[in-house]
Amino acid sequence: MSIVVVGSVAYDTVITPYGRAEDTLGGAATFFSVAASYFCPVQVVGVVGEDFSETDVDVFRERGVDIQGIERRPGRSFRWGGEYSWNLNERETLFTELNVFEQFDPVLPPSYREAPHVFLANIAPELQLSVLDQVVQPRLVALDTMNYWIEGSRDALVEVLGRVDILVINDEEARQLADEYNLVRAAENILAMGPTAIVIKRGEHGATAFLGGEVFTVPGYPLRELADPTGAGDTFAGGFMGHLARSGEHGPDGLRRAIVAGSVMASFCVEAFSLGGIRNLDEERIAARYRAFQALTRFGDL
Ligand code: AMP
Repeated sequence: MSIVVVGSVAYDTVITPYGRAEDTLGGAATFFSVAASYFCPVQVVGVVGEDFSETDVDVFRERGVDIQGIERRPGRSFRWGGEYSWNLNERETLFTELNVFEQFDPVLPPSYREAPHVFLANIAPELQLSVLDQVVQPRLVALDTMNYWIEGSRDALVEVLGRVDILVINDEEARQLADEYNLVRAAENILAMGPTAIVIKRGEHGATAFLGGEVFTVPGYPLRELADPTGAGDTFAGGFMGHLARSGEHGPDGLRRAIVAGSVMASFCVEAFSLGGIRNLDEERIAARYRAFQALTRFGDL
């Protein structure tokens, strides 16, 4: 079963304690699509400028991602720059150049409209609503958002939350959205806004999910070599949604496995800059790391 994802396709400039990369392929929809493509067919909606190279289009093509929904417009592609210190959970945004993204008005090609799964990556909540108006009865809709929209477009965001099944968000944003520091209470406040589940990404500390009445936590994978955490959140979402789309199991057990699949993909993402950690994976490497995650939290009786 396929997934439609709507979000940024970008050129990123990233500085981390381990190195730097200039104008490399990035964007939330890019990381999401490549990660999800290991599990199910993916259809992406986004916008790029005239400067978007064929080599970068090939990254989508090589993974079999349907790019009919990527519009090319006159002007430059969206650009974002970020810098990380040794604490990779925190980053400073160096610049955000919206360029062609400023006029982004997502239009889903007819072949996308019946996709059973929809992921609304981090874009204006008004645009997320417009996407929801274009899809025909999806089985599962999830979304991501960020502090900018929580502060500036709260009403529209609350409206979107009333129409989605799952919110995938990082811990600081969950606190901000709920106006509550304690994450358990923050999750309760957010669930009252509409979603049936919330998955809170906690960077190197893993992810905690509130699935109806249940809480599930998966650790971050202990990595010896790290390069760049950019896109880890979107990669997590791609693995998570991709697994849900492939298994078709949306109950608590299916969600738990999907959360581990998301964590597996995110752990590969941070090992290299840009898409380097996730564009050349295969089933066996993904399955091996999934087993490593299982081993991480296996323990016997008291
Ligand atoms: P993540 O590290 O998962 O939060 O995602 C980082 C990606 O989000 C980068 O590749 C950026 O190009 C993209 N990004 C950064 N700021 C924005 C924004 N305001 N809107 C959409 N995408 C963004």
